[in-house]
Amino acid sequence: MTIRFDNRVAIVTGAGTGLGRAHALGLAERGARVVINDLGAATDGSGASESAAQSVVDEIRAAGGQAMAHGADVSDPDGVADMVTQTLSQWGRIDIVVNNAGILRDKTFSNMTLDDFRRVVDVHLMGSATVTHACWPVMREQGYGRVVLTSSGSGLYGNFGQSNYGAAKAAMMGLMNVLHMEGARDNIRVNVLAPTAATRMTEALIPADALELMAPETITPGLLYLVSEDAPSRVMLGAGAGCFAQTRVYESQGITLQGDDLTPEQVAARFADITSAEDQQELTSAFDQTKKYVSNAAMARGLS
Ligand code: NAD
Repeated sequence: MTIRFDNRVAIVTGAGTGLGRAHALGLAERGARVVINDLGAATDGSGASESAAQSVVDEIRAAGGQAMAHGADVSDPDGVADMVTQTLSQWGRIDIVVNNAGILRDKTFSNMTLDDFRRVVDVHLMGSATVTHACWPVMREQGYGRVVLTSSGSGLYGNFGQSNYGAAKAAMMGLMNVLHMEGARDNIRVNVLAPTAATRMTEALIPADALELMAPETITPGLLYLVSEDAPSRVMLGAGAGCFAQTRVYESQGITLQGDDLTPEQVAARFADITSAEDQQELTSAFDQTKKYVSNAAMARGLS
């Protein structure tokens, strides 16, 4: 099976450098027409430059591919609307949205200003929501869409000094879960990519010998599968150094307390049972969770 993107149109945000550039080059190499979105910001989100996006467009065109640049700030609805309008007038459709643009403003929570917290949430969470929201009606109308949201180990597992970034990246899971459900009937599939790569974002944080194994190109094959015709949906794919793995959320079987036992002391006494991994389950909706609790409670009371 060869994965191709002929006749597909993709928007890749933050594609002027790092992971976004590698994803855009990978898509273009396999036939996609690609919008290279990039504000041209520094790692902390300051500044702007048009040359970042244009240089990747030039690279794709030099290799015989099709690309256009757009410098919208992903968190600016007007700029994003303009990007969507230009994409549609140029190529008539939008099949793939890779939400990848991102910034860092690391500080311990006690030293972090709310402005730094908000800006990181704005770029990662609101930026992904803004771009996806603008493309959503187009994908619904087409009956086809592939969306990737970029998370991070920081969001899934935590990283000291990144409360803003970790919160924004964990939100990708929540957005994916709901968009997966709402997009299914229109053949829109939504996944999360959690990369770890050698880019300007990590060059000062990870030792040089590890960075050598972690080129962005070692992640892009996973991204290309997640936006392909036969993509899965609602998968959180970890990727780095050519390693690919799935992150899942499980809920323990749990216990049911009732009557005189419904006390914090019993929660403490039974905490090992509550948190036991035996018979843990992957739930597929919030409603499943409510159903499980209500049916366990009914059973404990002999009602079912
Ligand atoms: P990078 O800094 O090399 O690239 C990010 C790009 O996003 C830059 O070109 C920047 O100009 C652009 N950008 C920033 N703010 C923007 C905005 N508001 N609108 C449009 N473009 C904007 O970073 P990277 O390492 O390639 O990271 C790409 C994505 O992967 C980010 O979402 C990042 O959080 C995520 N990520 C990276 C790593 C890693 O190890 N590098 C790990 C986990 C997650």
